[in-house]
Amino acid sequence: MDTIGFEELKRMLLAAVDQIKANHELLSKLDSFGGDGDHGTTMVRAMGCLEKGINSTTTGQIKDLLNNVGWSIMGVDGGATGPLFGSLFMGMAIPTDGKDVIDSQLLAAMFESGLNGVGNVTKAQIGDKTMIDALVPAVQELRAAVERGELIDQALAVAAEAAKKGAEATKGLAARFGRAKNIGEKSKGQPDPGATSVSLVFRGFAQGVQSNGGS
Ligand code: ADP
Ligand code: MG
Repeated sequence: MDTIGFEELKRMLLAAVDQIKANHELLSKLDSFGGDGDHGTTMVRAMGCLEKGINSTTTGQIKDLLNNVGWSIMGVDGGATGPLFGSLFMGMAIPTDGKDVIDSQLLAAMFESGLNGVGNVTKAQIGDKTMIDALVPAVQELRAAVERGELIDQALAVAAEAAKKGAEATKGLAARFGRAKNIGEKSKGQPDPGATSVSLVFRGFAQGVQSNGGS
């Protein structure tokens, strides 16, 4: 498809919610190795906030949708997740000002802006075994796909694959941020929970846009 609108974006977001809900036990299990074992439950609460953000958006505006979702997630209690994921969506809202449809260029700009937003709340870089390890390749590969001329559904599928690979690759890394930093080298062998969440969220985005049936 060439463009998506408000309703399609909503379906993308809700498909991410479904992915997290279906996999929250895995996320908490992964967080139990180096963290406090709450990542799955926190992400489920964050996705509840996301749904609230959707339901509170009555203007039909893409920017309002993303801002409401971001603000809502930002307020989730429980550690690092709220600010990280909240600022992703808040950042994504910025380039959508005044836009009724999202084309592939805007989509890439939205994710780049979202990544910037996350960068305002953490100094974690690629290789630090955090959600950044899935988010950066997803955003970069999405941009590359768009520059190759791939359409929104294809570009999101590419991004989801990149996020998945990025999350899997965190297995071999030692945590340098978040609670898992406390066990450092011992965190090797398991993927980072936050990176796994990012990979699930992008899988949801890709599936949600596919099920729109194209336009
Ligand atoms: P908490 O660690 O506060 O219990 P969660 O368990 O919900 O929060 O989330 C843990 C995940 O959050 C980690 O796997 C990592 O991906 C991400 N994370 C935690 N701290 C940071 C940070 N400072 N920068 C980037 N990501 C982080
Ligand atoms: Mg935790």
